[in-house]
Amino acid sequence: MNKPKIFISSPHMGGSEQKFIQEAFDTNWIAPLGPNVSGFESDLENYIQEKKFVAALSSGTAAIHLGLILLGVKAGDEVICQSMTFSASANPILYLGATPVFIDSELETWNLCPKVLDEAIFDMQEKGRKPKAIIAVHLYGIPYQIEAIRLVADKYNIPILEDSAEAVGSSYKGKKCGTFGDIGVLSFNGNKIITTSGGGAIVTSTNVLKQKAIFFATQSRDDAPHYQHSEIGYNYRLSNVSAGIGRGQMEVLESRVNLRREMHHFYEDLFKDINGVTLFTVDDKDYYANYWLSSILIDPKLTNGIDRETVRLAFEAENIESRPLWKPMHLQPIFEKYPYYGNQVAETLFEKGLCLPSGSSLSDEDRLRIKNVIYNLFAIN
Ligand SMILES: *Cc1c(COP(=O)(O)O)cnc(C)c1O
Repeated sequence: MNKPKIFISSPHMGGSEQKFIQEAFDTNWIAPLGPNVSGFESDLENYIQEKKFVAALSSGTAAIHLGLILLGVKAGDEVICQSMTFSASANPILYLGATPVFIDSELETWNLCPKVLDEAIFDMQEKGRKPKAIIAVHLYGIPYQIEAIRLVADKYNIPILEDSAEAVGSSYKGKKCGTFGDIGVLSFNGNKIITTSGGGAIVTSTNVLKQKAIFFATQSRDDAPHYQHSEIGYNYRLSNVSAGIGRGQMEVLESRVNLRREMHHFYEDLFKDINGVTLFTVDDKDYYANYWLSSILIDPKLTNGIDRETVRLAFEAENIESRPLWKPMHLQPIFEKYPYYGNQVAETLFEKGLCLPSGSSLSDEDRLRIKNVIYNLFAIN
């Protein structure tokens, strides 16, 4: 008998999504604009607070692309990017003909290391170069070192593009992720904490910037009765149908974050007595993580040789999905020729790390199956 597959992160509908979609059909707003788009944007603005402005876009990747454009990145510029991330953080640098400069992680949050960041910018400055922007990521929903990174960015006067694609619902010292950068980016892809099936958003500090993002996202149409264009345009706006899903998902965002955090507690309990396996956890005092994906580091020297691949294959045999951490960008064939500053932190995390099933819709039965794999593998009874 084939057991049903347990996924790392599945979409989890709340219930009112279809009501908003029905409204879109009833009013014939089947377009990349309409009441759900503006409604979803207000929902997000009310949720993240801090007097921010939100423009809904077709993806998080589109938001990063437009974010870099708003920060003035042009062909030939250099843009700093956290190496340990999903490729969507870095690809838009190449769309613009700019050059990525990759930076290592630190061990506390697995994100951009402020020390290496400072050293890298100092070194570039010595060579007469100044990066145009810094892309900092909240990996797996864990906020990066907000204050330390801001200090370095301000010291050299370089803006931050905050990739909060994985951190919708996370916060630091009570402020929501997505509001810390000069530009923020959210994603609502199917595997994220809430979803519009595909979608994203850009977060700005002024309405002028928000309107500029919408201008670029809707083909950069000048104010004229005919179609008139003086800048490059993109087709990046979110559809009113997808935004309807988003409005329904906003009603359950808080509960989705709580459920992911409960999955993290489940793993805390599961691994607490297993020598050589460490669950990635941040101190709850300042950091409030959505734990989008719960992840572990496995040290085969302490587990009698059981490594991350042994665990992954044991899960796979039971039709349970798990996945190695993001492979750092400076080790990717497409990016390996670009500059990299750092040591082996991201590389070691990649070697030892595994992302576990973390979805908010996992059942007690799913958890039991996960637990059995671990108990069998580590001979616990
Ligand atoms: C998912 C993701 C993105 C891209 O978002 P899409 O909506 O899928 O385009 C960007 N950065 C990170 C870190 C992500 O995880």
